[in-house]
Amino acid sequence: DLLRNADMAMYIAKQSGKGQYRRYEARMHTEAMERLELEADLRHAIDREEFTLRYQPIVLLHTGEIAGVEALVRWKHPTRGMMPPLQFIPLAEETGLIVPLGRWVVREACRQAVNWQHLRPEGQPLTLTINISGHQLQGEHVVEDVRRALSDSGLDPRQLVLEITESVLMQQSEIILERLHALKALGVRLAIDDFGTGYSSLGYLQRFPIDILKIDKSFVDDVGRGDTESALARAVIALGETLQLQTIAEGIELKAQLNGLQDLGCELGQGFFFDKPIEPADIELALRNAYAPLVGRPNARAQG
Ligand code: C2E
Ligand code: MG
Ligand code: MG
Repeated sequence: DLLRNADMAMYIAKQSGKGQYRRYEARMHTEAMERLELEADLRHAIDREEFTLRYQPIVLLHTGEIAGVEALVRWKHPTRGMMPPLQFIPLAEETGLIVPLGRWVVREACRQAVNWQHLRPEGQPLTLTINISGHQLQGEHVVEDVRRALSDSGLDPRQLVLEITESVLMQQSEIILERLHALKALGVRLAIDDFGTGYSSLGYLQRFPIDILKIDKSFVDDVGRGDTESALARAVIALGETLQLQTIAEGIELKAQLNGLQDLGCELGQGFFFDKPIEPADIELALRNAYAPLVGRPNARAQG
């Protein structure tokens, strides 16, 4: 037991970086056991059909129409209940299980989005947005998985947007650059998620084939509080305009934020103000009723 415990403390010290030390604590053992258990559960979760997708509407801020949806995965764990992605995506990445999980997400989301197309007025295409993690992009299967999901579902590639977080681009990896070009060649669009949180050089905006910037919630939080507070959101929107990228505001919770973003000329947004990530059946309802009553501004000054 002594050796086992010492080994565990060493393992955790190594994980924390070079030249570290850790003293063994009982919770290290408990946490490691829990992790192993979760990992074993994760291995079976796809076969047991325990994953499910929620979708959050992405709204045209001036009309309230739904332009698209973002697919967000959940795990219906048999004993722990509904688990949000941040509780299992990191583990899926470490164990490589992100590859089959990601494949399932793309297939399932494409299949569902094709069904919703019939609910669109005059066949306006509905955009489907899917999150792709850095580990997925490193793997060689991602391009083929997306290609197959598109061809099997019949979804038009122009309707698909893949989101990559800014931190992934900051790695400046040649493999990632190659993957992004291969994905673009399929005809899909690429978005940078959580834009503005990475504090990285802006050079990669030109180096990588990006179409859309998603303004991180932390900047959206400050919109509607005053000119100084919303300065960063304004700057990202202006950057988007200059580089001819679409901008999508994330995490709109308040009417004041929506109105502020409308004034700043932001085209698209999503957030609890409109809807949380909801079940597929509720997306169908939302598609029938736009959010026009929510975005309306009877006393708003004319938009210029
Ligand atoms: P994300 O892509 O930035 O997704 C936005 C997150 O913010 C979602 O959390 C969403 O529920 C939440 N959100 C949306 N509007 C609001 C709002 O108005 N207020 C607040 N407080 N939160 C809001 P969620 O679903 O827990 O997802 C967390 C992250 O997990 C996602 O961040 C994404 O990076 C990752 N993720 C989700 N699904 C997948 C997936 O299928 N594959 C991969 N690789 N990552 C995924
Ligand atoms: Mg996202
Ligand atoms: Mg985000």
